Amino acid sequence: MAAMSEAELTPAETPTETPAETPTETVAGGTGKRVLLAAPRGYCAGVDRAVVTVEKALELYGPPVYVRKEIVHNKHVVQTLRARGAIFVDETDEVPEGATVIFSAHGVAPVVHSEAAARSLKTIDATCPLVTKVHREAVRFAAEDYDILLIGHEGHEEVVGTSGEAPEHITIVDGPADVDNLTVRDPSKVVWLSQTTLSVDETMETVRRLRERFPALSDPPSDDICYATQNRQLAVKQMAPDTDLMIVVGSRNSSNSVRLVEVALEHGARAGHLVDFAEEVDPAWFEGVQTVGVTSGASVPEILVRDVLALLADHGYADVRPVVAAQESLLFALPNELRRDLKARKGVEAASERHDGSYADHSLH
Ligand code: SF4
Repeated sequence: MAAMSEAELTPAETPTETPAETPTETVAGGTGKRVLLAAPRGYCAGVDRAVVTVEKALELYGPPVYVRKEIVHNKHVVQTLRARGAIFVDETDEVPEGATVIFSAHGVAPVVHSEAAARSLKTIDATCPLVTKVHREAVRFAAEDYDILLIGHEGHEEVVGTSGEAPEHITIVDGPADVDNLTVRDPSKVVWLSQTTLSVDETMETVRRLRERFPALSDPPSDDICYATQNRQLAVKQMAPDTDLMIVVGSRNSSNSVRLVEVALEHGARAGHLVDFAEEVDPAWFEGVQTVGVTSGASVPEILVRDVLALLADHGYADVRPVVAAQESLLFALPNELRRDLKARKGVEAASERHDGSYADHSLH
C-alpha cells in the first residue's frame, strides 16, 4: 500500500504499538453477554471543527445562519443545529443576497465559491483540511497535465467538490469494477487520488487493478483516506472476528459509517447494522448473540453511542470492554474568516468594558 504511509500523521494519530485490549471471556450476570466498544469512534477533527463552526457562527452573527448541504452527514447533528437556527440549503442560490453561508466539511468546487461571490454572500468555509489537501493535490497534478483517477463514490459531495477542481483532468473510479472501462490520454502520466472516507482494503484493490492496466500509475504524495477513517476501520477489524453482532451508529448518507458495517462483515462479524438512534435497534437482532460490537462513524456525537449502550445494558449486555486500536488528539483551528470575526468581537467587548466598565450591546448586527 505504497501511498498509505503514515508520513502526514502526527504521532498522536498514528495507530499505536499498544495491542488492542484483547476481548476475553467474561461472565456478566451469569449470561456471558458482553459489548466490545471500539476506540477510536465518533467525532473526528474535521467534523468537530465543522460543527463548532456552525455553533460559533450562530452565537456570533445570530440566527439564521445558512449552511450549504448537511454540515456533516449525521441526522442528529443536523436536527440539533436546525433547532438552533441553522438553515440547510442545497445550493447558494437559495441563500438571500448578502447573508452568511457556511460550506460543509465535505468541501465545494471552486464554482461554488464563485456563485457565492456573485450573490455577495459572506462565506465561511468549514471544509475539512484533509479534504482541502486532496483538492490541492488535484490542482497540482492537473497543472502538470496528469490524468487523475479519483477513486470515490459518484455523486458524493466530497467527490463532486474535488472533481470540480479540475473537471477536464479527473475521471471518477467508483470501485474496482470501473477499472476495465477507463480510458486515459497518456498511460505514462496517470495518478490516482481518493475520497477520504473509503474502505482502505477496497481502495487498495482498486489501485491494484488500476496498476495492472496502467503500470506507470503514480501514487498520491500522502494518504488521501484520512487518519480517522483508517483508525475506525482498524478498530472494527480487531473486534469483528469476536463479534456476533456489530452495531454501527451513523447515518445512511455517511460514507465512513456505511464502510464500517462493510468492514465488520468482511472481517468476521456475523451480522452488522447501521442505526441513527438507539430506538432503531431491533431486539430480534440479539437472538443467540453473546458479543455485541459497538462503534460509530466520524460524524456521530458520543451521546448517541451512550444511548445504544444503555439499551444494550437493558438487554443484559452491561459488560463493556474497550478495544483500543489507536490514540487520537488531532484538533483543527476554526476557519480563518470566523476566527477573524470572533477576534473582532472580543475586541469590541473589551473596548466596551473599558469604556463604561460594563458590557454594552454586543450584537454585531
Ligand atoms: S472523516 Fe476525515 S476527512 Fe472527513 S471530516 Fe473527518 S478527518 Fe476530515
